[in-house]
Amino acid sequence: MQSSHSRQSVNDEVEITAKFRRSEVLAQPPREPKAQPDIVPFVRFGAKTDLGNVRENNEDKYDFFEPTEPMLLAERGSVYAVCDGMGGHSAGQIASELALKTFLKAYYDLELPDINTALFTAVQAANALVREVAQSIPGRRGMGTTLTAAALCEGEAHVVHVGDSRCYLVRGEVIEQVTDDHSYVMEQVRQGLLSPEEAQYSPYRNVITSSIGMEVLEPDIYRVPLQAGDRLVLCTDGLTTHVPDDRIADVVRTHSPSAAAQRLVEMALEEGGSDNVTVVVVHILELLSWEQARQIGWV
Ligand code: MN
Repeated sequence: MQSSHSRQSVNDEVEITAKFRRSEVLAQPPREPKAQPDIVPFVRFGAKTDLGNVRENNEDKYDFFEPTEPMLLAERGSVYAVCDGMGGHSAGQIASELALKTFLKAYYDLELPDINTALFTAVQAANALVREVAQSIPGRRGMGTTLTAAALCEGEAHVVHVGDSRCYLVRGEVIEQVTDDHSYVMEQVRQGLLSPEEAQYSPYRNVITSSIGMEVLEPDIYRVPLQAGDRLVLCTDGLTTHVPDDRIADVVRTHSPSAAAQRLVEMALEEGGSDNVTVVVVHILELLSWEQARQIGWV
């Protein structure tokens, strides 16, 4: 099977992603919707979530949606997402479930001119609902959630992100963290005030600086041009606290997506499993033309 989409580069270097500012995201002019996509990512997907060894609730959640309607595929693509809820009692579970459901519904249902605007608006919709629930029920004021989602459309992944869950791109021998953690310690690292090692052991490492549930929310949006063979990993901090990037890369390179998700969760548990752990792996096998995708029955 040949990909009709030309490779962005001939070597295995990761092409770094573009990060949009809110004003750029919202400044896109309206246009006519496409009837079907030109390029369809042909993917295999696997996911696994686990309570971990010490927690009593699993406040992590993953979800995905792969539309079959050609226009929706062209305009929104397929979405894969993880959330890591927080707040006492069952608040975190409620937050992650509500946020994911609301995010996906808003992303696919709202008539908006482009993917980035839809991602941005859908995160705001999730935030508004989580805040409403948090404020209306006593004892749920601390409730919130991270959200990291990748929309695969045409030959690109659009990644929207708030909190300290992560999206990685594994391409050839390289693993690249696409998202920046919205955490107090990682902001200190970015400013050169703390080393990555110090951040890992800091008592403040769990302090999140942006998440769904907060009054002011500035989600990051990244655009990743995809190549055949790429693997995207979406995961919560229950994985990254215990398993270093190079081991994540080794596992996703050598396992099918579902086996990789399973194995990575096991590794987090073997290393302590101090938190809920969730892993989603999307393997982009090929970038097909619309005709090729029809011929093999993928769409
Ligand atoms: Mn967590």
